[in-house]
Amino acid sequence: ETQQLRLPPWLKTTIPMGKNYAKIKSQLRDLKLSTVCEEARCPNIGECWGGGEHGTQTATIMLMGDTCTRGCRFCSVKTARAPPPLDVNEPVNTAKAISSWGLDYIVLTSVDRDDLPDGGSKHIAETVREIKARNSNIFVECLVPDFRGDLECVKTIASCGLDVYAHNIETVEKLTPFVRDRRAHYRQTLQVLREAKNFNPNLITKSSIMLGLGETDAEVEQTMQDLREVGVECLTLGQYMQPTKRHLKVIEYVTPEKFKHWEQRGNELGFLYTASGPLVRSSYKAGEFFITSILA
Ligand code: SF4
Ligand code: SF4
Repeated sequence: ETQQLRLPPWLKTTIPMGKNYAKIKSQLRDLKLSTVCEEARCPNIGECWGGGEHGTQTATIMLMGDTCTRGCRFCSVKTARAPPPLDVNEPVNTAKAISSWGLDYIVLTSVDRDDLPDGGSKHIAETVREIKARNSNIFVECLVPDFRGDLECVKTIASCGLDVYAHNIETVEKLTPFVRDRRAHYRQTLQVLREAKNFNPNLITKSSIMLGLGETDAEVEQTMQDLREVGVECLTLGQYMQPTKRHLKVIEYVTPEKFKHWEQRGNELGFLYTASGPLVRSSYKAGEFFITSILA
């Protein structure tokens, strides 16, 4: 039994709460909308909800329930073979709440629903269309499953009117079978990202890597190159944190300097932006980056 690594000082944070945060929080309560930001107690909530220099506010909403058909070893979402059926009113209700909320950038994410024939892709696409119909100025990012590599599902999402198609590779090739659910595959993730861009060259593709699971620098470098190779334009890198004792242990706390190094490498490799830091999560300040790096 190895000893638990000590938490380094750069991860001992207090969550800064701006003025905007309180405003959004009270709006949220009225809208009965639940966010990943709050439920995962994300440390970036002050920055994302508060908006950055340009005041671009980002929040993440989880669709299709709280129960996943997969069991990735880094993730604390609960698992079942057959989660409850989808709420058919969710697309409209979510869209109504988001449009009255007044955010600039919304990330829609979801559990994996391998129990549904279309993996829930039509439900997600419908939610995007309902959001855009009410507010064409809001930017929508979908952080979606691999849909078991089903390209019809990928096409459904890629053509629904979203701005950013995100699918996370999570870790390097060698560690994939130990980190992600056994149905997730490194090459399949690359394929899905490539096809999303092929179906709709106007959308931006995005992926994310967790560090601290025992990967080598050469493997991280290779993963970044593989993502560029399939046309991925935005990349985030963050520290893996063990959610409970039953989950994978942290092998290493990667230093802020090392994260900076990966940001530079990302820029050299030609990503439109690379957000890299110990507390960075896949949706970290996504709106702010989108405005400053992609629209600019
Ligand atoms: Fe929400 Fe994602 Fe920002 Fe965290 S990083 S506050 S989950 S939008
Ligand atoms: Fe968690 Fe996503 Fe894996 Fe489901 S597929 S266990 S939500 S990381």
